Amino acid sequence: MATAGETHEAADFVLPFQVGESAVRGRIVRLSASADEILARHHFPDSVSAFLGEAVALVALMGAALKFDGKLIFQAQGDGPAPMIVADYAAGGALRATAKVAGDVAGAAGTALVGAGHIVMTIDQGPDMERYQGVTPLDGERLEDAAVAYFMQSEQIPTAIRLAVGRLSAPGARDQWRAGGIMTQFVPGEGGARERGAEVLVDADDQESWDRAAAFVQTTEDDELLDPSIAAETVLYRLFHEDGVRIFDRQPVRAECSCNADKIEAVLGRYDGSDLADMVEDGAITVTCEFCRQAYRFNADGGALSA
Ligand SMILES: [Zn+2]
Repeated sequence: MATAGETHEAADFVLPFQVGESAVRGRIVRLSASADEILARHHFPDSVSAFLGEAVALVALMGAALKFDGKLIFQAQGDGPAPMIVADYAAGGALRATAKVAGDVAGAAGTALVGAGHIVMTIDQGPDMERYQGVTPLDGERLEDAAVAYFMQSEQIPTAIRLAVGRLSAPGARDQWRAGGIMTQFVPGEGGARERGAEVLVDADDQESWDRAAAFVQTTEDDELLDPSIAAETVLYRLFHEDGVRIFDRQPVRAECSCNADKIEAVLGRYDGSDLADMVEDGAITVTCEFCRQAYRFNADGGALSA
């Protein structure tokens, strides 16, 4: 069990909790160095960085619940000026994200950046396992609205979510991106009773504790999700002290990409010699990972040069 009272934390973690003895469970996420590393290296317009940061906080909240060695991939696709947003979480806490900016994003924020489109959630449990994919319309003005709609429509799980992204100014240094979020869900089937998609059966006591927990989550302020001087545990005690809250161990997360020279070399190996020759610029083929912006250099035969 974690304890409250730390001040000025700069950690990156997901903290699971349970409200009282009810079927209301949740997680809170704080991203400092990881959010800054992911967002700062892309140099997207601020509105796109903010949306992408929310997507990273969302996949951290969702991915931390995976009980297998897999990957959770969030994609938002639409017809707006940022038509593709991707964030993923790999087992063990590795986070990465990228976006495509194809038009003028001035004046647009939230889901309007992506435009009319949909959310795709993919749970990839590895090469020998079936992939699960849920697709729902991109509903609501903010990503948190769209995510709540996703859980109701695709998984029939009542869910409340708040997400926040901001920049923290540090004297003498550039501003640091931070992201945070809190999610609660009503999960009466925890322990195995409820199948995915089955009707949610709620008794009166459960309904009351769920309604209250959802309302509390919706009142969470951005500061409570982002300010490093407010411990995540303190936020949970503030929200749920009346019902009591059980706080479990922190699960660390970090910015980490899965790209490497061997994988890219294998992709280049599918092209023939003249295609490869066409890709050469300044004496080498340079391939930049769209997630982490790492550049890899290859010779005209597709063989790796030093990284
Ligand atoms: Zn990469």
